[in-house]
Amino acid sequence: MADINPSEIEQIVKQVLEGMHGNTGSSNTSSACTGIPSKGRVAMLTSLENFELKEFPIPPLGDHDMLVKVEGCGVCGTDAHEFKRDPFGLIPVALGHEGTGQIIAMGKDMKKDSAGKPLKVGDKVVSCMIFKDNPDITMFDLNKQNVGGADVYGLLPDDDVHHNGWFADYIVIRGGSTVFNVSDLSLDLRILIEPSAVLIHAVERAKTTGILRFNSRVAVQGCGPIGLLCIAVLRTMGIENIVAIDGQDNRLQFAKQMGADKSVNFKNYKDIENLAEAVKAAFGGYHADFAFQCTGSPAAHSNIYKFIRNGGGLCELGFFINGGEATINPHFDICAKEITTVGSWVYTLRDYATTFDFLKRAKGIGLPLDQLITHRFPLDQINEALKTNLSMQGLKIAIVNK
Ligand SMILES: [Zn+2]
Repeated sequence: MADINPSEIEQIVKQVLEGMHGNTGSSNTSSACTGIPSKGRVAMLTSLENFELKEFPIPPLGDHDMLVKVEGCGVCGTDAHEFKRDPFGLIPVALGHEGTGQIIAMGKDMKKDSAGKPLKVGDKVVSCMIFKDNPDITMFDLNKQNVGGADVYGLLPDDDVHHNGWFADYIVIRGGSTVFNVSDLSLDLRILIEPSAVLIHAVERAKTTGILRFNSRVAVQGCGPIGLLCIAVLRTMGIENIVAIDGQDNRLQFAKQMGADKSVNFKNYKDIENLAEAVKAAFGGYHADFAFQCTGSPAAHSNIYKFIRNGGGLCELGFFINGGEATINPHFDICAKEITTVGSWVYTLRDYATTFDFLKRAKGIGLPLDQLITHRFPLDQINEALKTNLSMQGLKIAIVNK
């Protein structure tokens, strides 16, 4: 010991301190500090109908965290409700949950996605907000530790991390979150994963009735993004005898491109009896075996029973939020016809993983899913994007970062 001179001791201490520093903070990531930004912008909803772009430092990543550079994020009806009314009382909040982007940095223990697929810097990912557990989940060997948990990026109240929503330059994905490697899907298809999962779930619910089969006659009422995706999911399953019902001719035209065989504009018919006759005529003189109700209109719910044959089925998925009460005649609409009805809301983790395969199949058979995204705004026009959504122009509105 006596042989070590003071300058050598200084050198050793320096090395030890450097070693310690190497085990803390941002240098503990597999990207070895290359390209990790020091700060990023977050679109923060600070008051009703008002996002402000705020810049926050990128926090040090924990061993299971990831930093993702946001490429794009769809605007959802939930975002629009929060923007207009703050029903969840989250303000100030970083919104955006239909997002996707590229991994920039990863904690040293983050190696696989929630389906067990390897993850590396450069991969494209989506997060998943899970609302429902599902006993079939083990079929995909999915990690379900966060079922019912709080990893709902885009609806988390603001905290010290700040980068909690996909309407941002970067998002911090915390350890244990549900995340999937979707590097094999284009940006447009990745933006459509979340809304598509809603339809995968609805069709799975419909299948439980035993009525929806190959070559079934299917009526899809409502040709917004949900109804159009419904048609695409049915088409990828081999169901081709689809009649689309809506009040806008341009949407009905698009429904045909998405796979509907025939379309009916309800505005051309003075009452439900005439409309029901028109739907029957579109099926060549038959009622529908099965119907999907994809509008948020109570009157549309009341009407749809008239399109369905005796012993047929109905999936109601249009009321994502409370849209009021609908009137039906239980004798004529349900009992006498022996209709089997299922409700559908959001999706399970299994539906989410199934959605990746649906998108590949839809692309494979040439369905123009990417045309569902009718408006693309840069992050600094987020207020305009939300207002465009609220004005009901277009179909899917998305924020796309350069
Ligand atoms: Zn959504």
